[in-house]
Amino acid sequence: MKKKMQVTKQILINFIHLFFPQLCVLCKTPLIQGEKQICLDCLCDLPLTNFHTDENNPVFRLFIGKADIVNATAWLRYEKGTKVQKLIHSFKYYNNKDLAYQLGRQMGLSLQPYINQEIDLLIPVPLHKKRQRERGYNQSEWICKGLASVVPIPVCTNSLQRKTASGTQTDKSLYARWANVQQLFTLSDKHDLKGKHILLVDDVITSGSTLSMCAEALSVAPGIKISILALAAA
Ligand SMILES: [Zn+2]
Repeated sequence: MKKKMQVTKQILINFIHLFFPQLCVLCKTPLIQGEKQICLDCLCDLPLTNFHTDENNPVFRLFIGKADIVNATAWLRYEKGTKVQKLIHSFKYYNNKDLAYQLGRQMGLSLQPYINQEIDLLIPVPLHKKRQRERGYNQSEWICKGLASVVPIPVCTNSLQRKTASGTQTDKSLYARWANVQQLFTLSDKHDLKGKHILLVDDVITSGSTLSMCAEALSVAPGIKISILALAAA
């Protein structure tokens, strides 16, 4: 019965797509069956960094002296005016969380052996509560969900939290303001993550300062190991 309903649903979806074809977010050609959000041509054309093959890659080097990291890598090269920028804009500002999911999934397929290496939990970089309310979702969480559809690792969203700003910055001394910025993130319970190897996941890495702050907050958990993965690196 359930299978019959699934077949009927697929026929209905195919029928709708005949009149309203789903288009590739990049080149706008109609997608064929099996393609989601991006056509195969555009997918094959994305600029891979291959950083995961080099332990001492430019993303890893961003964290030297700033955070105690096991591995760090990014899947794609981010440059202004490119397809990668268009993709990131699409899931950040055009309400396309499914695109974040599909890209997380493709990244998972591409980096499967790297991600599977002794990782216990996937943790997305938390968004400001206000930003998340406006956007309706945290794109890094959807990247994690896409990853988790390929690698059998759970996603954890309740341990690492972003602090809500307390008081206005202008009331504070220069040092207090600096200290406030330094401690943007906090752990709900440091024993939850005891001895775990965490993969911290973000959409784009630029300076690495947000991820360093996340790593610092996570580091209070005893025996924790932290690795970093981003969809793209600028
Ligand atoms: Zn395309």
